[in-house]
Amino acid sequence: MTDLPSLRETLDAHGLSAKKSFGQHFLLDLNVTRKIVRLAGPFEGRAVIEVGPGPGGLTRALLESDAGKVVLVEKDPRFVPLLTELDDGSGRLEIIQADALKVKEAELVDGPAHLVSNLPYNVGTPLLIKWLTGPWTPHALTLMFQKEVAQRVAADVGDDAYGRLAVISQAVCEARVVMDLPARAFTPPPRVDSAVVHLTPRPDRPEPAVLKRLEQVTAAAFGQRRKMLRSSLKTLGGAALCEAAGIDPDARAETVDVAGFLRMARAEI
Ligand code: SAM
Repeated sequence: MTDLPSLRETLDAHGLSAKKSFGQHFLLDLNVTRKIVRLAGPFEGRAVIEVGPGPGGLTRALLESDAGKVVLVEKDPRFVPLLTELDDGSGRLEIIQADALKVKEAELVDGPAHLVSNLPYNVGTPLLIKWLTGPWTPHALTLMFQKEVAQRVAADVGDDAYGRLAVISQAVCEARVVMDLPARAFTPPPRVDSAVVHLTPRPDRPEPAVLKRLEQVTAAAFGQRRKMLRSSLKTLGGAALCEAAGIDPDARAETVDVAGFLRMARAEI
């Protein structure tokens, strides 16, 4: 990777600039992308799916790592020729031009795979929900979000950022913010700062029916977060549901921890 032209030179050579509609904010400093890949690994020969490689800064760092295979999913077709230049012909790199919201990850890789992405901000949350609740489970996820979204994923009960995203993320995974990045680290800089979240699926991942119910319960509870649960959860069982889960029906959503929400999602009433 060291004898390649710089990312900026590569973008210029291909006449490429960032498009807002694709949420494009590039990391052109390989020291930064190598650090993200170090935080994501070790991969120990497992495959890595990278969503939204763009000019390939993270891709270059992934190709230097111990990833067995690197599968890129990029929606913007303009980047395919540039990414093809990173292919050494060994079969380790695969480039898929597609919308990551629509791909079936299980068809892209054999066996466990990591997900690594500097996510397009406009679809970051729907992609995370897809990977958390979908039929395919990643080995681990290392994802760059807007800082505010990263905080909402990793928040503890009692934090201002605690809400639906924290409950669903942490019911499935252990989630930690592992790196902060200022807006100026990106080209062009976004309006807000960013942060990297590392998520590791829990061995006791809730079964799909429980996750579906958890999505309903958290949508209702946090949709009216100032109301008591007996009222915000009325259509799902109200006080009876709370009591079946050992939760005070007069409590508000923001005071119930992830385990409490899981008990509500599992409660039979
Ligand atoms: N990984 C690159 C980096 O760090 O410099 C680019 C990150 S940029 C924030 C987001 C990338 O995701 C862009 O390359 C964009 O074209 C791509 N993208 C946007 N929406 C996408 C989607 N639905 N599926 C796949 N890629 C998408």
